[in-house]
Amino acid sequence: MRYKRIHQNSILKFMRNKIGIVILIFSFSSVFSQNDVSPFIYVLGNVQDAGLPHIGCESKICLDAFNEKKKHYVTSIALIDKENQEYSLFDVTPNITEQLLMIRRDIFNKYILPKNIFITHAHIGHYTGLMYFGREALGSKGIKVNVLPRMYDFISNNGPWSQLVELGNISLNEINFRDNIKIKPNLSVIPIQVPHRDEFSETSAFLIKGPNKTALFLPDIDKWSKWSISLIEMLRNVDYAFLDATFYTNDEINRDIEEIPHPLVIETMDLLSELPDYQKDKVYFIHMNHTNQMLDANSDISRSVLKKGFNIARLGQKFSL
Ligand SMILES: [Zn+2]
Ligand SMILES: [Zn+2]
Repeated sequence: MRYKRIHQNSILKFMRNKIGIVILIFSFSSVFSQNDVSPFIYVLGNVQDAGLPHIGCESKICLDAFNEKKKHYVTSIALIDKENQEYSLFDVTPNITEQLLMIRRDIFNKYILPKNIFITHAHIGHYTGLMYFGREALGSKGIKVNVLPRMYDFISNNGPWSQLVELGNISLNEINFRDNIKIKPNLSVIPIQVPHRDEFSETSAFLIKGPNKTALFLPDIDKWSKWSISLIEMLRNVDYAFLDATFYTNDEINRDIEEIPHPLVIETMDLLSELPDYQKDKVYFIHMNHTNQMLDANSDISRSVLKKGFNIARLGQKFSL
């Protein structure tokens, strides 16, 4: 894990240097300096839409996840603004109940609902958690859900989602690609279109701009070559990039992978292989299918990804903005 790695590096520096204590403090705080005013990203899940355990899966990773009660949640991140005691949620997963409890336990020490929700697209892991805001569950009032135009129509015109709008459980706000959506004077979100299987909605990535740093949240895309933007160029302009890592290789599932295209992690690493280390270090792979051994932090594949200079997003990680 990143913290561990940084911590070990820091201790090495400490041992090698007589003024190590200064360096130790400096290098630890440069990764994540949490104070009352700096916003940060908090990782609420890193699994592909269908979660872990995965329905129909009897492999060890699914049975372990089930038996050991080790928590694995579907991909989502929160943008935490502790100063104002509020946060924005990026994607609303079927694990929303647990994920909001994580925020209560680890961040605010009290139950706070999201001030803003941003949804990437209408695939099951990314929006169906909305159902828990409805009459059968929370019965919330006016939670602001920011969606792109096709997603706006999809939710407005199809039950059960339309009932959330009719009852006022959620308040839909239509946004457009490239809008600069100000959450606070020093916090903004920019939706960016990405090519994906757009059956019910368009698909968005989000640029999240903080006072000092920018993050890219891009959990789903068909292929980097289909994108109008160069990933390498994008990486130059961000500090963290949470990127689609659904499949590590194309032989890990017994279905036609052409029907569910994603950039394979080996392809993404290959595409970025010539970049300097500090650019690779911005990448945090996320949205891993239950077949992807990167979900197991101790697997050989996880180790080899880290060794190549990339990172893997893990539950509970924090990133200063
Ligand atoms: Zn997905
Ligand atoms: Zn998708």
